[in-house]
Amino acid sequence: MSSAIREFVMQQPLFSHHDHHVTFADFDKNRETYGAAALLGYAGADLTTAAGARPPSFENEEQRLAALWPNIRTTGYGRAVTLGCQALFGLEFAPEHFAQIGKAVQAAIKGKTAEELFDYFVREKANIKWVAQDGLFRPERPDALRTELYPDYYHFAFRSDALFGCTGMGAIHHLQRFSGIDVLNLDRLVDALNVAIDSFKSTGRLNAFKVGIAYQRDLVVLDPPRYEAERAFSRLRSTKTFRDGLQQNDGAVNAAEGRPLGDYMLHRLLERAHDEDIPVQIHTGYLAGNWGSLAGTKASFLIPLFDKYREVRFDIFHASWPWASELGTIAKNYPNVYPDMCWMWTMNPAECERALGEWLDGVPFNKIFAFGADTGQPWCDVGYALQARIGIARVLEQKIEAGYFSEATARDVAAAIMLQNGESFYGLG
Ligand SMILES: [Zn+2]
Repeated sequence: MSSAIREFVMQQPLFSHHDHHVTFADFDKNRETYGAAALLGYAGADLTTAAGARPPSFENEEQRLAALWPNIRTTGYGRAVTLGCQALFGLEFAPEHFAQIGKAVQAAIKGKTAEELFDYFVREKANIKWVAQDGLFRPERPDALRTELYPDYYHFAFRSDALFGCTGMGAIHHLQRFSGIDVLNLDRLVDALNVAIDSFKSTGRLNAFKVGIAYQRDLVVLDPPRYEAERAFSRLRSTKTFRDGLQQNDGAVNAAEGRPLGDYMLHRLLERAHDEDIPVQIHTGYLAGNWGSLAGTKASFLIPLFDKYREVRFDIFHASWPWASELGTIAKNYPNVYPDMCWMWTMNPAECERALGEWLDGVPFNKIFAFGADTGQPWCDVGYALQARIGIARVLEQKIEAGYFSEATARDVAAAIMLQNGESFYGLG
């Protein structure tokens, strides 16, 4: 089936609001290992789900994939793999083709630099113009400032979940090392945070602050007085694990104890966002992988922050699925909230279509962000982008058919939600 709006959407470049691509260096490190399984992206989690409560044992990964794949080929995760594999190699992703697909992957990357391959998969095949990358600007990474490890159309979000999630002291150690400031008291911790942000900003490639604490705690953020944060800091600072310089979240500090400090620091981050008009991206809704608790991830928990920081622009991720309607409602009410469908097309295409249809009826379309691939390998963007385009086209076809949108309006909406809104929000293009 084809329509004018579908053709328009299929060729419309995208803004990827969120990706976790590997660096050129990491891509190269694993070159020989890429086979059919490298196309899976998120689908690996559906394999685990399909395997059930007492998973059978398999001789190897290949056998496991062959046995479980048929059950997941119908989900959004699975269909994205099928779409990407078809678009890139003209092959159906099926066990009888795995060997051939593996050879096709190797043939596609052979003799090309990582940079050429990112251009090929992301720019050319997925037709993504800009990438908001999450994964480089992290104080714990030795390569944190090496923006040359990505193409120049990538911009980077600063992220330190351990600091704001406050599950341990690892984050403070990393910040101390990265900033060169001895974090002897609470004020110096705030200084270290700001110096780290200065470093990222000085690259000219900082696009946002990313808050991913939903993976560690609920999104109920209180506004604790300074003395509570200070008390938490002092207690944590005096633990033996801190003095011994353990580098990871050490688990020696319980989350409840660290919580006022995490909340306090998050407010300092939001103040900086306010002062310098730096966008804030926040993970809400479903958690990647398996066994994640959804209990604390609703976007509605963030309302006190949206209300307090009215001049801060919030890019709210993943449509807050399964609470996409709720996020649409918040976005209608709060001028500083921009609802974002990154990752949702692949988590659940049917619900994402429904959500986009609803959002377009409730939220001015200049506020809606329709895409982010949110994946580690550049080729996965191909299937994820295709999946988003198919869904966006279907929603706009319905609006036209119902008589709500003219063809011209539908085109304006597509261009805005797929690209232009992101460009103006992040000051690009
Ligand atoms: Zn992500």
